Amino acid sequence: MTPTVAIVGRPNVGKSTLFNRLVGKKLALVDDRPGVTRDRREGEARLGDLEFRIIDTAGLEEATEESLLGRMRAQTEAAIEDADVILFVVDARVGILPADRPFAEMVRRSGKPVILIANKAEGASGMAGAYDAFSLGLGEPVPLSAEHGEGMADLFEALMPYF
Ligand code: GDP
Ligand code: MG
Repeated sequence: MTPTVAIVGRPNVGKSTLFNRLVGKKLALVDDRPGVTRDRREGEARLGDLEFRIIDTAGLEEATEESLLGRMRAQTEAAIEDADVILFVVDARVGILPADRPFAEMVRRSGKPVILIANKAEGASGMAGAYDAFSLGLGEPVPLSAEHGEGMADLFEALMPYF
């Protein structure tokens, strides 16, 4: 069966950029089922010769203030539940923020395999945040630039054992 990979993390770390890069030109399916899965995007991804289903946890910008946290948590929990492997994304430029921690905690509690991604790591300035990501206790971060397509070979290496 095709593995399912969920992209998880706080807003603005580059989850959708990574999703788009992995899905490439293939159609990104919009899941319009009601409820917590409403905002989530799914697609068929390819990385090298690995093919997998990918879930982007996203689209919460329209939520009202009081419902935002609950909906983000519910959507993330649902994606984690469906996932065989989780890509937990942080921003290597700003480092780890308090907002990263509840998402990291959900991932940890799931007990599922997680690949820690330090995104926006293009250029020299990105590496500081990548080291900062060690403090999450989710293993060694994979520095990546979803926008520039750097580090994709390392992501491939990290994903390969789960196929
Ligand atoms: P999401 O909220 O986690 O889905 O994040 P988005 O994919 O919407 O990206 C948030 C912002 O970060 C956008 O302005 C992106 O252009 C930017 N971004 C995403 N990936 C990278 C990257 O690898 N490097 C840099 N410098 N910016 C990035
Ligand atoms: Mg997004």
